[in-house]
Amino acid sequence: MDSLNQINWTAVWSIIAVILLIGMGILGFFLVQKTQELQRSSMVLKKLQRSFSEIDEQAKLIVKTDLELHRARAELDKRLNGLEALQKTSRLMSTTLDQNEIFQRIDQPLITSLGFEKNLILLYTEEKKFQCRVDLGFSKEEITKILKNLNSDPTLNDSLREGYVFSSVSSVKQRREKITQMFGVEHFILSPIAAQTGMIGLIFVGNRSDASAVTAGDEELISILANQIGQSLENAQLFEQVYRSSQILESRVQERTKQLASALEDVQTISKNKSEFISAVSHELRTPLTSIKGYASLLMSGKLGEISEPIHERLDKINKHSDNLVKLINDLLDISRIESRKTEMRFDRCALQPIIENVHDLLTPQLREKNINWLAEVDEATPPVFLDRSHIERVFINLVSNAIKFTPVHGTISIRVRPDNDIIVVQVSDTGIGISAQDIPKLFDEFYRVDNEINQNLKGTGLGLSLVKKIIEAHQGRIWVTSEVNKGTTFHFTLPIEKPS
Ligand code: ADP
Repeated sequence: MDSLNQINWTAVWSIIAVILLIGMGILGFFLVQKTQELQRSSMVLKKLQRSFSEIDEQAKLIVKTDLELHRARAELDKRLNGLEALQKTSRLMSTTLDQNEIFQRIDQPLITSLGFEKNLILLYTEEKKFQCRVDLGFSKEEITKILKNLNSDPTLNDSLREGYVFSSVSSVKQRREKITQMFGVEHFILSPIAAQTGMIGLIFVGNRSDASAVTAGDEELISILANQIGQSLENAQLFEQVYRSSQILESRVQERTKQLASALEDVQTISKNKSEFISAVSHELRTPLTSIKGYASLLMSGKLGEISEPIHERLDKINKHSDNLVKLINDLLDISRIESRKTEMRFDRCALQPIIENVHDLLTPQLREKNINWLAEVDEATPPVFLDRSHIERVFINLVSNAIKFTPVHGTISIRVRPDNDIIVVQVSDTGIGISAQDIPKLFDEFYRVDNEINQNLKGTGLGLSLVKKIIEAHQGRIWVTSEVNKGTTFHFTLPIEKPS
């Protein structure tokens, strides 16, 4: 029994042990299973955690990018506004050449639209000192102080002259602090205004400390503005220079004109006095000359008794010389009278043909004497002309007489007349000795006679052509001469067809 009991307990313990073993095996199996599951879950969890943090990072990036985008957009808007305002101001500035007007264009709306509340535009004077032309946001005392400090800072002046732009973002600390102190603002841009000649001024813009900091874009805008001001000021200065020199020129011309007018007046007075003197002297000479001539003729007539041949010869000479003198005096009198307008021209509508025929008739003996051919061509289209007949006849007589004098035998003298718009052109030509080029300019001077053989043998006064010129000019015509030595000479003159005013 004891043994049975013993066996039973062994069996029971064995069964229990087996059962326990199996149970533990099953439990172990489940445990392994669960552990594996747990491991898998923790891996998934880790992955999830990583994904979450990645998403979080991305979300942060998106927010940051959005913020930056907003800021960039705001900056862009600011720059666009500034550029628009600048463009408008530039257009206005380029339409004026007045310095004051240029400065008036740089007003508060422009500076505000560029994002600043304080502004100074200073011009560099000839004494190399700054002078304020535009100010915004500064008191008079502040400006005086700034100018004083600026004018006594050669280093800053030199840098500006070299074209440096200073700003609260890009300048070195020391310089930044100095400018901040000088202008009393934290955010600023200080740019030189340059022209071709170098720096002509500077522009300053600034903001209080609580305003946003200046950007590179602001610097660019202010540099553009400084350039535009420089160009406009340069144009205005150039215009002013041109205007000033034109005024100086004008006043000089006026002064010179005044001097010339007074000189002309003097000449006219002298000329009048000369004419009056000649006229008076000629008159005084003419009376005794007439008696000399009369007495000579009387003696020659033999009415006062017979005279010997030698005396007759001398008396004849007295007579001829007196004739020459009378002619000279008459010519002188005529010239001075025409000059002083004492001789009135009697204008009438006259045909040229009869005048020329008359002159031909008058001079036929001289023409025959030298066997000179005579040609007269008056264009059929030549209308009658308003002229003083007796004076124009004198012109022809003088010119033709000279032509006869200086043309050898068998030569030709021709007169041609043709109309040309509202004038007629007359040519008196000969085939005579001609006139050299150096004598031509003096030909119409009073008493001028060319030094040639004919003149040495023939008496003359040198007044004929001078008188001719005065008569033509009194008709408001023109006279000139063309000639070739040993070939011939042509005198050309014009006369207005209608009555001269
Ligand atoms: P004059 O005949 O009394 O010398 P004029 O005034 O008529 O004075 O002429 C001035 C000079 O012009 C003359 O002396 C002469 O030398 C020159 N002259 C004028 N007409 C002619 C001509 N047709 N040919 C050459 N020389 C001329």
